[in-house]
Amino acid sequence: MPEIGSWTIYDLVDDWIRHSSIRPPRQLFVFFALLSGFALLMLGVTMQITPFPAIPIGIIIIFQLLALIITVVVHEIWHAVFIIAYGGRPKFGWKWMKGLGPVVYATTDGYYSVHAYRHIAAAPLVIISMICIIGTFFGLGWWLIVPFVFNAIGAGGDLLSLRTLQRYPADYLIEDTQDGFKVYTKTVNHKTDNEVS
Ligand SMILES: [Zn+2]
Repeated sequence: MPEIGSWTIYDLVDDWIRHSSIRPPRQLFVFFALLSGFALLMLGVTMQITPFPAIPIGIIIIFQLLALIITVVVHEIWHAVFIIAYGGRPKFGWKWMKGLGPVVYATTDGYYSVHAYRHIAAAPLVIISMICIIGTFFGLGWWLIVPFVFNAIGAGGDLLSLRTLQRYPADYLIEDTQDGFKVYTKTVNHKTDNEVS
């Protein structure tokens, strides 16, 4: 099967910087503007409908630190849910990445269409953000703002993947490589049992 692209997270960052016309890259500006907009909206709604929790601030801080860990786990679980939905088998791991520190990932063997892989990449950002925003309207805002922001920042690699994936047709095949992906043209059909198009 002809491989036509191989991207690590470093390549994705490089690709993004090289093809961005202004510095700081305008996508970064748009991303943080959107993120702060939503976070401020959540804060506004929360302040209107929910009194600040009447528990010691120390406990709140400990909970928020726990929430960061929970957010990482739930983020990877949503990748896994979509890997399973597209017929794959998820595997979890972590590794130390230069310049990034410890990175937790969900990965999988097999091949996925670009279309399927986009859903797998986007799922945690879209679904967890929606859960946090909806939860805010049900009075959980004080507990969900930090996970919301942290999940969105943690989805940086996913967003970079989605950005670079735009250049490939939806039926090309993707192989996950833990810290990135490889792209194949869909010409040979061996070992494509996981692929859904
Ligand atoms: Zn992710």
